[in-house]
Amino acid sequence: MATEYNAFITEETIEGDEDGPLAGTTVAVKDNISTEGIRTTCGSEMLADYVPPYSATVVDRLTDAGATVVGKTNMDEFGMGTTTETSAFGPTRNPADPDRVPGGSSGGSAAAVAAGEADVALGSDTGGSVRCPAAFCGVVGIKPTYGLVSRYGLVAYANSLEQIGPIASTVEEAAEALSVIAGPDPNDGTTRDPTSVDGGGDGDADAGADGGIDYAAAADGDVDGLTVGVPTELFEGADERVVETVEDAIADLEAQGAETTETSLPSVEHAVQAYYVIATSEASSNLARFDGVRYGHRADSDENWNESFAETREAFGSEVKRRILLGTYALSAGYHDEYYAKAQDAREWVRQDFEEAFADVDVIASPTMPVLPFELGESLDDPLRMYLADANTTPANLANLPAISVPAGEADGLPVGLQLVGPKFDEETVIRAASAVE
Ligand code: GLN
Repeated sequence: MATEYNAFITEETIEGDEDGPLAGTTVAVKDNISTEGIRTTCGSEMLADYVPPYSATVVDRLTDAGATVVGKTNMDEFGMGTTTETSAFGPTRNPADPDRVPGGSSGGSAAAVAAGEADVALGSDTGGSVRCPAAFCGVVGIKPTYGLVSRYGLVAYANSLEQIGPIASTVEEAAEALSVIAGPDPNDGTTRDPTSVDGGGDGDADAGADGGIDYAAAADGDVDGLTVGVPTELFEGADERVVETVEDAIADLEAQGAETTETSLPSVEHAVQAYYVIATSEASSNLARFDGVRYGHRADSDENWNESFAETREAFGSEVKRRILLGTYALSAGYHDEYYAKAQDAREWVRQDFEEAFADVDVIASPTMPVLPFELGESLDDPLRMYLADANTTPANLANLPAISVPAGEADGLPVGLQLVGPKFDEETVIRAASAVE
């Protein structure tokens, strides 16, 4: 039963503590998040037999809070994809329609929750990988503010962009899991205490037991007086059926007392291009560590060390190789200013657009994905089409902002996700608004 949609790569258990706020909760963990004694493959041949000697901070926090890990979920290889089809372990199917993809790269995590194979799942979101599969599978996914959740034990794809985030059936359950995994970690120097940050922990929600923020308390559905910005740029070019469903959900927020206003994010048209330059550049550097010496697969060549290294890296799939080549090119002497430096400029423009928008609005609403879930195989030979599907999710990663995808309804029987983005460390407002959409 648990393998009906190929949501899991490995089904092994880590029992939780008996006590704690998540006692009795089952959790599925994306297979790029380290689990002591349980193999962590990143969906790759390269790490097919790699067993980490320690668990990620987020895994320890969940089991300390009483949750039981039930397995490691399928994913696009090293998080590189939007469909879970680049996994070396075969594609995951979408429980809403098994002929369609579950989204990616955390497709196994979203499918496990949608199919009832886990209560909560962890994904990682570098450019949309929690929100995209949540939208395609009809569940809730949170991409926290950069620095809210520890990345210790997460196998890096593009460190300046990514965060681990929870996926669940309801906003409240996802928020509850976020409360458990959030907060500073001495093993990740980029983490911050949200209560010490301006705008974080606005005092509406009770402090959690350990002094952290109780994000579930913010899921009260009270949007009276909340200002929702609607940026035209994130609706242009989207599938009409998606636009209609999302507009209905926004109208429903208005009916509940929210105020909606048009807002503009002029630079987001550059977001997906900037994202793919920055993400592939960071990936080309991060994936250099898979050299056959320290981790995972090793091809022993009689020739010399260079040959061994080259042959070892044959274990990467074609999408991963494409990205390493793209990133290496973008960082090369002579091209650096033309690509990487320009992408960093665009990243700054996107960040400023959001800052200006948040002077007037509390949250920004849009479709999570501009398209309905692809049919299996449909986008595999067309990487550019797959990359462009990340147009609405990548801006929040570039600007390091909190974002959530919540089910807005269905179009042609397929789930449609509404995305809400908020100011840094203000996940409470994002969670509050999302809870009114359900
Ligand atoms: N689809 C995007 C990519 O392929 C996002 C992936 C992610 O967030 N890990 O890079």
